[in-house]
Amino acid sequence: MAVTSPKNVKESKVENADRSWIARPILSSEFTDDPTLEDVYVGLLKQKKDISRAIKSISAVLPGFRHLKRCSSNKLLLTPVNTRELAKEDSSVEYTLTEERLKEVLNERGFNLSLLEENFQILRVPSRAARTKVQAARSSKIWPVNFHPDPSIERLIDGSVFTEHQLDTIGRYMRVAVDAARLEAVGDSNCNGSAVIVDPEDGRILAVAASRIDQHPMWHAATLAVDLVAKLQGGGAWKLDGNTVESDSSGRNKDGSTKMCEQTDKCGPYLCTGYWAFSSKEPCPLCAMALLHSRVSRIFYGVPNENTGVLGSRTILHAVPGLNHRYQVWSGVLEQECRQVLREIESRNID
Ligand SMILES: [Zn+2]
Repeated sequence: MAVTSPKNVKESKVENADRSWIARPILSSEFTDDPTLEDVYVGLLKQKKDISRAIKSISAVLPGFRHLKRCSSNKLLLTPVNTRELAKEDSSVEYTLTEERLKEVLNERGFNLSLLEENFQILRVPSRAARTKVQAARSSKIWPVNFHPDPSIERLIDGSVFTEHQLDTIGRYMRVAVDAARLEAVGDSNCNGSAVIVDPEDGRILAVAASRIDQHPMWHAATLAVDLVAKLQGGGAWKLDGNTVESDSSGRNKDGSTKMCEQTDKCGPYLCTGYWAFSSKEPCPLCAMALLHSRVSRIFYGVPNENTGVLGSRTILHAVPGLNHRYQVWSGVLEQECRQVLREIESRNID
């Protein structure tokens, strides 16, 4: 049997504020990397009183550096050392600007060079805008920055995207996945565990599946779960002999409400548009692509999959450019329990 029913949901103990796990967002490196730096020419202002005049003038003749303050103390950012923009002829190759050529350009464009000391400096400054408060703080240790935090990104990072109540519910759904893995999962060292798909709008659990690659090489937990949702909608590729759960009691919260989110597009053309997926282990490429094609909006997993995980371990699939759908991903949900159950079922692995 490939599928289990989440019969233990109601008696699951309710998580609370001193839960042992933290939902960690898996973000693209553009939100986590240290600032990349580039060499820039810097002019030294002879007199501080000329600062605003110099900034206005340099911004007009050599625009750029919108992510940085144009002036710090008496140092005025002029232009990157490697720049195509000021190339005389062949601008298809990267161009290293000499100090002499830069002075020529500044003169030609009407910048008053007498505001600056004779010799320019070369400094390394952040080459692109910070995306998070943490990155902005790191960048500003190098050079003062212009930065406006994106509240939605900051809520992901500081965890306030979820209320305590939502975290409790997320933990309960993951407990269903843990139970399913314990009962049924047969995998291998590349992929094992279980998957649960939930409609966050009303809290219903739509599918629970455990990996059964002993029966079919593609019966990974997430592919089975997606197929079960397809079955609910009159489709599905496989004849699965388990059952799915349509009862609204399974996901019901303590206060009787089940709603998990306010903004779900339930009218999407794809199977799982707006749904949330829970997986005891980080999805492998097959599972991650099944979830991507089905358009789930959020994925929560328990433990990293160091062999083949593509949502944080080996790569970050949802940060790959060119994808036509992106989900948000968190790891670490019920981490200890997921790790424990994966250890327990290791002996059932087929390799
Ligand atoms: Zn898989």
